[in-house]
Amino acid sequence: MAGANGLSDEFPTAETIEDFTHDIAAVRARIADAAHRVGRDPDEIRLLPVSKTVPEDRIRIAVAAGLQQLGENRVQEATRKYHAMQDLDVEWSIIGNLQTNKARDVAAYAAEFQALDRLRVAEVLNRRLETAGRTLPVFVQVNTSNEPQKYGIHPDELARFLADLRQYPNLEVQGLMTLAIFSSDTERVRKCFTLLRELRDQMRAEVPELLGPGELSMGMSGDFETAIEEGSTVVRVGQAIFGARSTPDSAYWPGMA
Ligand SMILES: *Cc1c(COP(=O)(O)O)cnc(C)c1O
Repeated sequence: MAGANGLSDEFPTAETIEDFTHDIAAVRARIADAAHRVGRDPDEIRLLPVSKTVPEDRIRIAVAAGLQQLGENRVQEATRKYHAMQDLDVEWSIIGNLQTNKARDVAAYAAEFQALDRLRVAEVLNRRLETAGRTLPVFVQVNTSNEPQKYGIHPDELARFLADLRQYPNLEVQGLMTLAIFSSDTERVRKCFTLLRELRDQMRAEVPELLGPGELSMGMSGDFETAIEEGSTVVRVGQAIFGARSTPDSAYWPGMA
């Protein structure tokens, strides 16, 4: 459904407080519907709005419309926005791959980090947090789509990885995060979410002390309802709130067309 500008007609750009109020309410209604379909309480699902590529002026309007948390994929962009908008009452969540040379920034201001998949990053981040005198909620990213180029640790290595994280007391494991396969085939997408839930349940049974509350961060604009049906407790939603991005997703995820 690409429009003349190449952007999806499905996600009109939100410009005003009314636009944002409408989009946020619509997403929340869809979250509630999906939850009710499977007998879940919508209040157990956190909506994390994703503001990557969105400029400051529109973010300010979105915050005026009620957003209090914002997810950013890239640390550099998040850091710039954090400094520019320190006057706002908003928390910044890092949801993309982290390089060790940016760990200090994350340790300084991030409210959470959702894409932990390397021990080296855990080690550096832990050290930076120790220096800053903070702890940080983290999610372990799992590659549930079996695409070799994707970020995230392999499901078979999850138990070992969680055990290794015990060395880093300034990281507070909250649970698991994943990106589903990018496919219009809902059942293939669903399989990724089901796998993450099964892994969470298995870890809970075997090593509950390593998983914290056992949250599941899964679901984005195109697939959050399926993710909620499969047990998601955090949905990361950008385009359905802010409007379509002109930056292709391949800029954020390796190996995409
Ligand atoms: C961009 C992004 C999202 C949100 O994607 P939308 O299609 O805008 O909803 C979710 N998770 C991660 C890791 C992202 O980078």
